[in-house]
Amino acid sequence: MSFAATILTLYPEMFPGPLGLSLAGRALEQGRWSLDAVQIRDFATDRHRTVDDTPAGGGAGMVMRADVLARAVDSAPAGLPRIAMTPRGSPLTQTRVRDLAAGPGVAILCGRFEGFDERIFEARDIEPVSIGDYVLSGGETAALVLLDACIRLLPGVMGAASSGDDESFEAGLLEYPQYTRPVEWEGRTIPEVLRSGDHARIAAWRHARAAADTRLRRPDLWERYGGDPVQSPSGARRDSKE
Ligand code: SAM
Repeated sequence: MSFAATILTLYPEMFPGPLGLSLAGRALEQGRWSLDAVQIRDFATDRHRTVDDTPAGGGAGMVMRADVLARAVDSAPAGLPRIAMTPRGSPLTQTRVRDLAAGPGVAILCGRFEGFDERIFEARDIEPVSIGDYVLSGGETAALVLLDACIRLLPGVMGAASSGDDESFEAGLLEYPQYTRPVEWEGRTIPEVLRSGDHARIAAWRHARAAADTRLRRPDLWERYGGDPVQSPSGARRDSKE
């Protein structure tokens, strides 16, 4: 069964974009996933094909209208989970990506301007999802990120050699650091253990480095993993108010 992606956007020409190349592009050609990029403006009813209006309560910018969005959402195939890309959403995780990749596909609503009329979320059972704590100019690049993460997990896309099981987030940690030839480069050598051929030592080293790097770079992940609480430089717990 192919993974069906329906993208609701004001810029359908942005798709497949980078997903037309490399692994995802080949998988698209092979029919492992399908793409339907739908122009939201086609669901406007006035002569000017208006999709937005001024924010209730005042303020800068424009807001995407719920009535137009609803018609666009209703045009998506039934049975697909519905996601709207928004910085106000729950952070996208590898767990959510795995769930989505195991399902029939996804319908993704891409915002522009100041975002969506909030009523669309409840009225159409749409999950708000963010790709990180920063603001993009539009939801299309966020949708590409979400799709990329799903597509590489579809059966047959990565190939048997790389299941993704070892990668960052799969076991709750960042991945261990990787090296390849040349063995010596600019006076730096590949750690001896990785050249030892001793698989038990290599596995132990990799786990230790994955743990140390996660603790240092992602104390939030580390503590969720069950690691010891990371102290801030002032000595206070990282998550307490300082
Ligand atoms: N006014 C909104 C806010 O402060 O939450 C930001 C709107 S942003 C300029 C326009 C659109 O870009 C959003 O509706 C959303 O679709 C997309 N977008 C921006 N940042 C995003 C993020 N971190 N994750 C997912 N989508 C994002």
